[in-house]
Amino acid sequence: MSDRLFAKATAVLKKSVALMMKHKIAATPHNYALWYLYVENNKAELKQAMEQTLDTYQTIPPSQGDLLYNQFIEEEQNLEVKEMRQNLEAMVQELQHTMRDTGTDTANFQSTIDSSFEKLENAERDGMALDQVMDLVRHLIDQAATIRKSTNFFNEQLSSAQEEISKLKDQLKQTEVQAMHDALTGIYNRRAFDLDYQQLLQHKREFAVIACDIDHFKAFNDNYGHVLGDQVLKVVAKRLSEGCREGMKIYRYGGEEFMILMPDADLRKARYLAETMRRAIEKLSLKDRRANRQIKNITTSFGVAVFDKLSPKRSPVEEADKQLYEAKRLGRNRVMPILN
Ligand code: GH3
Ligand code: MG
Ligand code: MG
Repeated sequence: MSDRLFAKATAVLKKSVALMMKHKIAATPHNYALWYLYVENNKAELKQAMEQTLDTYQTIPPSQGDLLYNQFIEEEQNLEVKEMRQNLEAMVQELQHTMRDTGTDTANFQSTIDSSFEKLENAERDGMALDQVMDLVRHLIDQAATIRKSTNFFNEQLSSAQEEISKLKDQLKQTEVQAMHDALTGIYNRRAFDLDYQQLLQHKREFAVIACDIDHFKAFNDNYGHVLGDQVLKVVAKRLSEGCREGMKIYRYGGEEFMILMPDADLRKARYLAETMRRAIEKLSLKDRRANRQIKNITTSFGVAVFDKLSPKRSPVEEADKQLYEAKRLGRNRVMPILN
């Protein structure tokens, strides 16, 4: 078949299959032949008769289809085997394109196509009756319908799978967030600190570590109960967070101990910030609902250290902890070391 003829047959088939779907016409060989001729538009009477039927019924009911077929096609038998073969090839091509586009598993359909081609080759050699070719067409149309159904099903599955995946992604993200945060105060936890700290050490950039511990915290628990103790932890964490500047992060390091990482900061800057935080916490006032009294004596001690690129062996965490201990020893509610 010439390329031009083939292209024309493809176009006619494409249109007739689309029209059959639109008018909900069953995929039978008779209907296929009717609609092929309708689109080909060489038979004015047939076209007119079909349009009249469509006007009346909005489809072509099987009984009417049979009548039209008998009237316009059967007696003339003008669809030759060769032409049918050409149509069939065009349709197969068309369907193959569609399948490629949808990306569906077409293994079954492919084998039907292969065996159809084989039969067609035999048909050309042996001479094949029209109704045999029609059988082949019907089989292919049925297969195409099955594929279309499974494509729809596949697409539905795919979109529900995608939904499921994005839900799982959200859950995973939430879990990751939870894994890095402290449930009580909402700030980062010890695990997040360890990761960030290691990363800062690797970058070999200057950074400061600020250790902060609530003074005589045990007394809050003992005097007012654990619930109020928890309240104190929350308000202190909140104040510390409010004192953080761009790039800094605050972590709950232990029970009532916090850590702050401050990239690109020297000791003076870090100390200044700790001092600001200490004063802010000092001003805190908390209502003890149980005993209906105001709690005002919340204080914190701070130890500050920097990571020194020139002597990277010294751990700034250990140094900050040492300075914190020193602040406690000297009477609490202060920042160490003192700079002059
Ligand atoms: P210092 O000034 O020397 O730091 O004294 P401190 O009482 O703050 O220190 P200590 O280590 O003796 O006591 C800390 C207490 O913090 C003991 C523990 O029961 C309490 N604690 C730890 N985690 C929590 C928590 O999540 N909630 C409450 N309510 N208490 C906690
Ligand atoms: Mg303490
Ligand atoms: Mg402590």
